[in-house]
Amino acid sequence: MKLLEYEAKQILAANDIAVPKSYIAGSVPDFLPAVIKSQVPTGGRGKAGGVTIVKTDDEYAAAVAMIKKLPIKGHTPKTLLAEELITINRELYLAILIDKKAVAITLMAHKNGGVEVEENPADSYLRSVVDKTNDFDAVGQQLADYYDLADQAFALQDLVEKLCGAFVKTDALLLEINPLILTKDGDLVAGDCKMELDDAAAFRHPGWHFEAEKAEVNFVTLDQNGTVATIANGAGLAMATVDAVADAGLTPANFLDIGGGASEASVLAAFKRLVQYPNLQVIIINIVAGITRCDEVARAILSARDQLPNLPPLAIRLAGTNYEQAADLLSKSGLVLYSDLATAIASINDKEVA
Ligand code: GDP
Ligand code: MN
Repeated sequence: MKLLEYEAKQILAANDIAVPKSYIAGSVPDFLPAVIKSQVPTGGRGKAGGVTIVKTDDEYAAAVAMIKKLPIKGHTPKTLLAEELITINRELYLAILIDKKAVAITLMAHKNGGVEVEENPADSYLRSVVDKTNDFDAVGQQLADYYDLADQAFALQDLVEKLCGAFVKTDALLLEINPLILTKDGDLVAGDCKMELDDAAAFRHPGWHFEAEKAEVNFVTLDQNGTVATIANGAGLAMATVDAVADAGLTPANFLDIGGGASEASVLAAFKRLVQYPNLQVIIINIVAGITRCDEVARAILSARDQLPNLPPLAIRLAGTNYEQAADLLSKSGLVLYSDLATAIASINDKEVA
């Protein structure tokens, strides 16, 4: 799962890593001057016009209105970040990632950071394994020599140590800071942050709630006029669910694989899309939970019932992780649970779906 810049920077800040002062840009500015930044899950925002410096209320309003509507590589932002304007001395590149060949957490650095980073030849980066020895003292010195910043050795050591700590703690796959800004006052600040987390580790992080989760599901409309919508986990089970609905003589509206470790929020988001189908009569939920937890799905079902007045009858089949909690939650609310798909499908016919 790829985080947005502001979400990644919240993680940096929580790990005591310097980030610019910021706020989520609303109708009026909290402070000016500021840099308004589109929060889309892709790089190259600067070049696309998604990063704008504003100094007055009028400039602020104009930039917010423009960037809100500006698609960048097919993404339109839900959130805009406003940051304090930093006076840049140098823009550096620094990333922590997993080197699969070396089976090690590795640092990548380049003297030339910023929007032109693609111009750097791939073999021109400094690479250094950081998790075998955890000798951050040596890594800090190596980086200071490489960047030609002799007086920053300790600051770089401290930064890399904190970045690695955050990387391991959050089960990250990538933590990229570009630019790492050397300010005119000699401070190192994360000007931008791209972070990717390991979805398979979601069960270890009940607090994970990110905008990107909504994009994690695989969703295909099969028939806009279909009467039965489906929610399943795993592509195979989702296809089998669609087939079983069709085999029963019903018309599936969609394919939906909520993936592994789906959260209550992402399942609820799925329900919100399904209730848009004009002829919808039943939603079938078919979850065989491994990393996904039945209780998480159950909570989403209950939230959907609370929040969506046009929610049709549900045919629910749950099995696997935390089934008992889910059964308990749902039965208290008068919802019937089926232990196999065939019975759940048969219950649809009982609901007299055309
Ligand atoms: P990206 O293009 O998606 O990687 O977005 P970035 O957040 O990296 O911003 C692009 C560029 O905008 C940076 O490389 C900087 O040159 C510039 N920029 C961003 N924030 C500031 C700032 O506070 N002050 C100044 N002077 N430039 C900034
Ligand atoms: Mn950047």
